[in-house]
Amino acid sequence: MKPAWLIVAYLAAVALPLIVSWLVGGPPRPFREELASGLGILAFTMILMEFVLSGRFKSISNGVGMDVTMRFHQMMARTALAFALLHPFLYRGAPSGGQRPWDPTRQLTITTDFSDLSTGIAAFLILPTLVLLAIGRTQLDVKYETWRLMHGIGALLVAALLLHHTIYAGRYGSLPVMTWLWGAMTGMAIGSLLYVYLLVPLRDKARGWRVTSVNRLTPKQWELTVTPDGHSGLEFKAGQFVWLNVGHSAFSLKENPFSISSAPSAGPEVSFIIKELGDFTRTVGQIEPGSVAYLDGPYGSLSIEGRDEPGVALIAGGVGIAPLISILRQMRLTDDPRKVKIIYGNRLEDQIACRDELDAEDVTYVLTEPPQGWQGARGFIDAALMDRVFSPTEFKEWIFVMCGPAIMMNIVEDHLIARGTPSSHILSERFDYD
Ligand SMILES: Cc1cc2nc3c(=O)[nH]c(=O)nc-3n(C[C@H](O)[C@H](O)[C@H](O)COP(=O)(O)OP(=O)(O)OC[C@H]3O[C@@H](n4cnc5c(N)ncnc54)[C@H](O)[C@@H]3O)c2cc1C
Repeated sequence: MKPAWLIVAYLAAVALPLIVSWLVGGPPRPFREELASGLGILAFTMILMEFVLSGRFKSISNGVGMDVTMRFHQMMARTALAFALLHPFLYRGAPSGGQRPWDPTRQLTITTDFSDLSTGIAAFLILPTLVLLAIGRTQLDVKYETWRLMHGIGALLVAALLLHHTIYAGRYGSLPVMTWLWGAMTGMAIGSLLYVYLLVPLRDKARGWRVTSVNRLTPKQWELTVTPDGHSGLEFKAGQFVWLNVGHSAFSLKENPFSISSAPSAGPEVSFIIKELGDFTRTVGQIEPGSVAYLDGPYGSLSIEGRDEPGVALIAGGVGIAPLISILRQMRLTDDPRKVKIIYGNRLEDQIACRDELDAEDVTYVLTEPPQGWQGARGFIDAALMDRVFSPTEFKEWIFVMCGPAIMMNIVEDHLIARGTPSSHILSERFDYD
């Protein structure tokens, strides 16, 4: 889906309960009371929408990109948290206590019934914990999979608690149409979890893969190749990525995102360049050919398919070369006539992957710790280097595709903007998913 439509769809979904509440709501109340209810309604809706902003829905993340989806997910979680924390403190002035016969839907009174409020209080405590644990995840000594499971369970719990709180303590939630709407929206959120953790694995199980080879490319980078096991393979665009699960059940949470490094036109086999980093990636070298694998994808919007810029600039830092080499390979296999220039940064010379292939191209290798006698560029990929590689016309007309460490991407992106590259000509992907 196009980014503009996604924004409209998001705003419409978030505004829906607010608008319906306003349309079916009772007598007017002081602004502060309405604001308190409004913030509560908005917080709950935004929390439910977080389930579909998990990055696992192609119609969303392939439209705006995984980076943007995840940044938006994080931003909206923080905004919803602020609304949720503010909401109870704004109720002041209206009579509170048990249900009044003259106000059966609690339009004018605030409940103090503990059973109605308890779920809201529990959510009030769990929600900040969930957000804080997500923000500080990397500082925690917890496995990524454990954190992910806890994050999912916590989110589910918050949604269930808020559904109860909204219907039983909310001023609008007890109206039949709103009870129905909240039920449907919570159902959609829970359904999205079931889709990701049950339906997708079920589908993937029927389309298994087998590892055909694992080759060391550099001291800490491996090329893993898989072949479809009894099916036609995966349709993807060069530059996209999949969630790869090797050697576990299709329902396992042990899956990691990796860019495909082979070209779509190369045939049904799919390859990955994997850098040793942590629990899974450090064991890639021990994977036996023949092992079962599952691929969920393709995801991502790092693709030049359908683009008509006259030249393609590929800028990679470290293992960020993986999606870019897929793009290059696809261009070569399809005799793409466009000019290509590559900048590829690493720390050491022996970290340069696919060198034979790249040597045949217009490539600039950059090393921060070059060996003696190194003829290539030194230091980081920066503005000065980019000015040496690209002409003013290329900056303005070409498409720039980049993948690498955040610091490199920020420097490159800032310089491209400064040199007049339209932002629609800049495609980037970060290898962060949290
Ligand atoms: C879109 C995308 C494409 C990527 N492509 C490549 C690639 O082509 N080659 C490559 O070497 N690396 C790639 N990565 C990075 C790769 O996913 C991580 O290095 C890998 O998941 C680390 O797993 P680990 O168990 O070895 O390390 P751990 O020590 O367990 O984790 C290190 C960090 O990696 C991330 N991570 C770990 N497990 C997962 C998971 N299941 N899901 C999401 N993130 C996780 C977390 O941020 C975690 O803190 C990509 C990442 C993303 C988001």
